[in-house]
Amino acid sequence: MQTDPTYPANVTPSEAHLRSAQELAATYRVNPHTGLLDDEAAQRAHQHGANELQDHARRGPLALLADQFKDFMVLVLLGAAVISGVIGDLTDTLVILVIVVLNAIIGFVQAWRADQAMAALRQLSAAHATVLRGGEVQVVPASVLVPGDIVLLEAGNQIPADLRLIEIAQLQVDESALTGESVTVAKQTDTLAAQDTSALGDRVNMAFKGTTATHGRARGLVVATGMHTELGKVARLLGGEDRSTPLQLRLAAFGKRLALGVIAICIVIFAVGVLRGESPLLMALTAISLAVAAIPEALPAVVTVLLALGARRMVAVKALVRRLPSVETLGSVTTICSDKTGTLTQNHMHAELLLAQGQRWAPGDPLPGPVHAEALRAAVLCNDAARHARVDDDGNATTTPNPDAHPTDWQGDPTETALVLAAHAGGLDKAQLDAATPRVQEQPFDSDRKRMTTFHRGGGGFVAYTKGAPESVLPRCTAQWTPEGGQPLDTAAVLATANQLAAQGLRVLALARRDHARLPDTNALDDVESQMALLGLIALIDPPRPEAQAAVRDCMSAGITPVMITGDHPATARAIAHRLGIVAHADAPVLTGADLAQLDDAALRAQVEQVHVYARVDPAQKIRIVEALQAQGHFVAMTGDGVNDAPALKRADIGVSMGKGGTDVAREASSLVLLDDNFATIVAAVKEGRRIYDNIRKFVRYAMTGNSGEIWTIFLAPLLLLPIPLLPIHILWVNLVTDGLPGLALAAEPAERGIMQRPPRPPNESLFAQGMWQHILGMGLLIAGLCLAVQAWALHTGHAHWQTMVFTVLTLAQMAHVMAIRSESEPLWRLGLASNRPLLGAVLLTFALQMATIYVPFLNPIFRTEPLSLGELGICVAAALVVYCVVELEKAWRRKRRASGSAIDDPAA
Ligand code: ATP
Repeated sequence: MQTDPTYPANVTPSEAHLRSAQELAATYRVNPHTGLLDDEAAQRAHQHGANELQDHARRGPLALLADQFKDFMVLVLLGAAVISGVIGDLTDTLVILVIVVLNAIIGFVQAWRADQAMAALRQLSAAHATVLRGGEVQVVPASVLVPGDIVLLEAGNQIPADLRLIEIAQLQVDESALTGESVTVAKQTDTLAAQDTSALGDRVNMAFKGTTATHGRARGLVVATGMHTELGKVARLLGGEDRSTPLQLRLAAFGKRLALGVIAICIVIFAVGVLRGESPLLMALTAISLAVAAIPEALPAVVTVLLALGARRMVAVKALVRRLPSVETLGSVTTICSDKTGTLTQNHMHAELLLAQGQRWAPGDPLPGPVHAEALRAAVLCNDAARHARVDDDGNATTTPNPDAHPTDWQGDPTETALVLAAHAGGLDKAQLDAATPRVQEQPFDSDRKRMTTFHRGGGGFVAYTKGAPESVLPRCTAQWTPEGGQPLDTAAVLATANQLAAQGLRVLALARRDHARLPDTNALDDVESQMALLGLIALIDPPRPEAQAAVRDCMSAGITPVMITGDHPATARAIAHRLGIVAHADAPVLTGADLAQLDDAALRAQVEQVHVYARVDPAQKIRIVEALQAQGHFVAMTGDGVNDAPALKRADIGVSMGKGGTDVAREASSLVLLDDNFATIVAAVKEGRRIYDNIRKFVRYAMTGNSGEIWTIFLAPLLLLPIPLLPIHILWVNLVTDGLPGLALAAEPAERGIMQRPPRPPNESLFAQGMWQHILGMGLLIAGLCLAVQAWALHTGHAHWQTMVFTVLTLAQMAHVMAIRSESEPLWRLGLASNRPLLGAVLLTFALQMATIYVPFLNPIFRTEPLSLGELGICVAAALVVYCVVELEKAWRRKRRASGSAIDDPAA
């Protein structure tokens, strides 16, 4: 076996499963209890490089530039230009070459910006890892891990490097990404023997990069990073993925068909010209230039730019897009299914009261008795909150825990930190209790069981503490705990109390304990979590997010239905949903997980549009809700943060995960990450998605109308017995100055007024829907008509500059057009010229360039232009203004039709 020189000489990563944990710790020179020191880690990072897979899909700048010349029509044009230069005029050849190179540079800059934006997004969505360094738990980017690091794993983590497991609690790993095996693997820490472990799936004391922990927790020693991991070995074999979005694919297919049409027209133009006695070379160059200008081969690329720039802007509203197509489909969302905790609520929980043996205690009051104290002990011991790393004045993490640390120094699940705080208020310190009553075994929390149990050494034997949802814990209790022994328990009465608290919007947890003489076997869970003694109920407050209410309102006016799906109690869910306006009545119907289990798919479909709150739902049931909604024609965004949410996130049209609180697994499965875990951000992202789609439409409308105008002009001229209106250079120039800058500046167009007052766009609606086709053909004809009218008039009245005039009308008409289509319905004067400064700048610059081609003397022979008189220029400007006015009339007509249309839709109006 090949030994990598950068690893310890006597072990290769692929043999780590054959070594004991102590042996490996010694070879990798690390203390498994404190991890590497920061200096040592930095040195190893230098030696081993970043823990990253090489990205084959990234193209270098040169490849990107070369791509711009690969277009077949551009090559044909270059060939024709060279030939014409050899036979005739070298100036033409040079100018065409320069224009083609400029075009390529614009294309390159666009592609490069898109690539940069995508790389920045990938950087933002890069994975993190929890690592033990210098005795401190730190969260670091996974890329900085080095061999020898001690990594902490918990359910939901993506494994950040190849790890030899040294300590585990019920760890299960989904290795399907690496082995294709869909059954999760239960892990262990024992040293394995060489036989039977040749397959990766058999190395059960290892966790491999790229796989995910689905259950439990663990500590592992990094034995390999980056391309040295097992994933790295196969990553070499994987090609780059195709990053095209559905819209791009549709546009590319459409572009191909259109190209055939354009080429046919160009052949006709060539033939007619030659028949009329024009030089075949000039006609060939004209036809090819027209084909280059009018074939929309750049459309898919520009769409990428608009999507990628849009995605980058979305980060500003705290929405991180992981899959580019989602940017274009966000605008179609009709239903947003959201978690409650943390997304609609603040996830800043605090304990409101503790109820034990019928007596209430609120944090701040003296403790009424020993049962309350014991309940609080359960709340902090059966609790995974961990102490924050404290940072000293020099910015270094201190390693000595401070016994007087304020309880807000604890981090973890907000439910659990709230409990640590409450206990602190009652005089109990988690650090001291953890030290005095060490945890020896545990059954972690999961949202299916809705409870967790920890086992501690104490009192000569072991004590198990359980906490969880009242309906989950109470049926397993047979008595009320007191120091003197068990007392009778009225389970029904306690449950009723829990329901009352929940109806006030509180999250209620039940706490219980049981003594064990010997450490029980957690494989026999049902036996272990039974015959417990109830300690009490603790109620936590988690206030709704202040901005969520407005976001819910925005959703509704945008034709989007907000739906709450929570693991919490139905009464809590209903109370919060009512407070937020998701349901109008305090007694709105709530469907629980148990109800769902009773309904078959057809029955669920019949109800799904009426129910807006689902409670006590298992993650697995979320999939059924998504599918039922989709079956009713909805386009569903669904949030989720846990491991078990991943399938539903994948099934939803837009899977939304949490950047702060969620698991790696959920993030991997999602297409949108909320960097602030906030419901309002989904709504902001939908608005942004609608804006970007609008702008793509505007760009296509602008570019295609311009192309259509150019084709009509050249095509119709001979039919009207006019000479060829434009030279090849003019055509290429118009294409260069018009498509380049103004087109891209449309990306900066702000959202249309009322963008969130219109209904969602049907997901498979054509990009050219709502009159766009007619616009492209009609306005193209108008532009051509104006060009030809000016040409005919100028020829008729003996103006020698007729060609320069046609050239100028064509450019200015496109500028007028782009300003007029900034909105699909609002007039330009209501938008204001300054509301899209990049576009205004692009239009002014284009105007200046056009004037330069006419009035700068040395450019005249190059562009075959002549200076226009003021009157001639005035006529050109007037012709362009006609285009502007006609588009404004079209918009006014559309406004009127929409107003009368909505009056018909809405009888009250
Ligand atoms: P959402 O699905 O909206 O995020 P949630 O956070 O309430 O809601 P889960 O995390 O699945 O959903 O929790 C379900 C129930 O499990 C809670 O209502 C609570 O009763 C119980 N629970 C939550 N966290 C813990 C915990 N750390 N320990 C024990 N029980 C818990």
